[in-house]
Amino acid sequence: MKRIKLSAAWFSEQEADAVARVMKTGSVSMGRETQQFESELLSFLGKPDAHVICVHSCTAALLLATQACGIGAGDEVLIPTLTFVATFQAVKACGAVPVPCDVTDDGFIDLSDAAESLTSRTKAIMPVLYAGCDSRIYDVYQFAEANNLRVIEDAAHCFGDENIANRDGIMCFSFDPIKNISCGDGGCILTSDSAIAKKLADMRLLGVIGDTERRYSGQRSWDFDVTEQGWRLHMNDIAAAIGRTQLARFPQIRERRRRSAKMYMKALSAISELQLFPINTETAVPHIFPIIVKDGSRDGLQAFLAEAGIETGVQYKPTHLLSYFDMGYDLPNAVRLYESMLSLPLHPLLSDNDGQYVIDTIFRFFRK
Ligand SMILES: *Cc1c(COP(=O)(O)O)cnc(C)c1O
Repeated sequence: MKRIKLSAAWFSEQEADAVARVMKTGSVSMGRETQQFESELLSFLGKPDAHVICVHSCTAALLLATQACGIGAGDEVLIPTLTFVATFQAVKACGAVPVPCDVTDDGFIDLSDAAESLTSRTKAIMPVLYAGCDSRIYDVYQFAEANNLRVIEDAAHCFGDENIANRDGIMCFSFDPIKNISCGDGGCILTSDSAIAKKLADMRLLGVIGDTERRYSGQRSWDFDVTEQGWRLHMNDIAAAIGRTQLARFPQIRERRRRSAKMYMKALSAISELQLFPINTETAVPHIFPIIVKDGSRDGLQAFLAEAGIETGVQYKPTHLLSYFDMGYDLPNAVRLYESMLSLPLHPLLSDNDGQYVIDTIFRFFRK
């Protein structure tokens, strides 16, 4: 029987060669490979005057960005509840309070709900570009400006999106095993703010002032100073080498992801029981492909697809329903989405045949 995975990384011989190349140098900790990756990411992201700081994961990026903005104990951060739990944990790790907000029909933070959650302690808003849908991100920046908040974007779903260069915030990307590019595990922060970038560079290396610069010039720090809380969340050179290879191969990866998403969009828009997310497959590089099953048959469809060897997911259980973050919030739209959504297989190894098989199986379920 066919087995179609929900998500997968696409690694080639080239990634394996890159790992071997770094290993043979005998120095695999953060150094010149990471420096190279950062400068390649900067040009790729189309913001040559900004800064990229590579770290261990997007979770690490979100944590460090929050702390670098001076957000800590007692401060509040507005976050859409429909996200991977990483977003909430990162804020909580800084001692701040993640405040769950409801989402709109396409999974984007609902700014009217966010407005109701504002208090004198609110310091930031952390929008999630869910499934790469970014059409209302500029409203978030306006909302933030009007309310004197920082914007820290959880951009884990939208590496490679062509609109990223058009705005100037603090953006956190993920290079984990299933994201648009993978380092094994990894992530980065993109920011134009030099002071924040400097803080991030130190904070990822236990707060050791100037350690990044010394490593990039092949030196080590023996006489150093630390002035604030730091973490061991830097990227290592093996991960950076994998990332550099993936970045070089990104045009192919992007093409395959877009191609599958376009196939789904075209075919599934004919099924009236389904609602699709407004993913712009010309500018975005879709990381996930969630659909909404409007007629209450989500569980049935999921079981039917599983029978046919097709793995699906539910992204995500709203975070305010998890015990650790449950503060009695009532966020009905997110819960409604959670009960009706299903993520279809989407990754660069999905062939046209597999995509068509997924589509045909969904049509069979709805007897079309
Ligand atoms: C994957 C993901 C993260 C976490 O990324 P890691 O690199 O695994 O830490 C955070 N937020 C969202 C929305 C994600 O999908």
